[in-house]
Amino acid sequence: MVPADRTRAACAQEGFRARSWRVDPLAAAARGRHGGTVSREPGTAPSPSLPRGPVLAVCAHPDDESFGLGGVLAACTAAGEATHLLCLTLGERSTLGGLAAPELAERRIAELDCAAGVLGLRSVARRTHPDGALAAVPLDALADTVVDEARRVGAASLLTFDEGGVSGHPDHEQATRAAVAAGGRMAIPVYGWALPHALAAQLARETGQPFVGRPRGAVDLVVPVDRARQWTAIRCHRSQLSGNRVLRRRLALAAPEEWLRELRPDGPGRPAAG
Ligand SMILES: [Zn+2]
Repeated sequence: MVPADRTRAACAQEGFRARSWRVDPLAAAARGRHGGTVSREPGTAPSPSLPRGPVLAVCAHPDDESFGLGGVLAACTAAGEATHLLCLTLGERSTLGGLAAPELAERRIAELDCAAGVLGLRSVARRTHPDGALAAVPLDALADTVVDEARRVGAASLLTFDEGGVSGHPDHEQATRAAVAAGGRMAIPVYGWALPHALAAQLARETGQPFVGRPRGAVDLVVPVDRARQWTAIRCHRSQLSGNRVLRRRLALAAPEEWLRELRPDGPGRPAAG
């Protein structure tokens, strides 16, 4: 049984489990996203879970909310939490899509709106910082942007990519820095979506991309996810799907769960390397 205090936590009713609650991925897949039997590891104290209240996801590009955070965001909205997105660029410099910057930006705005609808997001805020050069935008200014939006939606927590940007993309890393700085200013928790170390290592070997993963012990929350719904959101981003074999491979290898680490302005409290 899941204790009552845990089921009251934000997103916990449908999806989130603290890391001290072991979830069997195969059993989770059989159950779907609504959870079921979870067992507590002996000798461990309950870990913190997301606070109740609205969630603001902070992403660098249109498609990050689906390709990366889609499973977690769908779990939040399925749990009835008001879930919002701040996207810091329009993704206009992507090498995929076969369009020039202005046309590609327009296409990607429409794709993002489609995905937001699939994921059940309450609102999407877009900013026009330069795609591919987010790291050149002063961090204080980006953090201001995040704080403003977080206050507008009354965010109780922020969700973003793990430190290292998961795939090593500098835009992802800067978006994460901005979220962490904003969370520190507002004294609200910031959760980073992290790849399991073994998965990241395999992807790095196969693709040559610098994926960053984490050991299980560095993870604060494990979220059973609905990959079918994530894929529906992903398919909204048609301009970015053609030839995107890395995404397909990652999701083919992934278990039906996502890992989150709490990120802190003064650095992670848990081991950062896998
Ligand atoms: Zn991205």
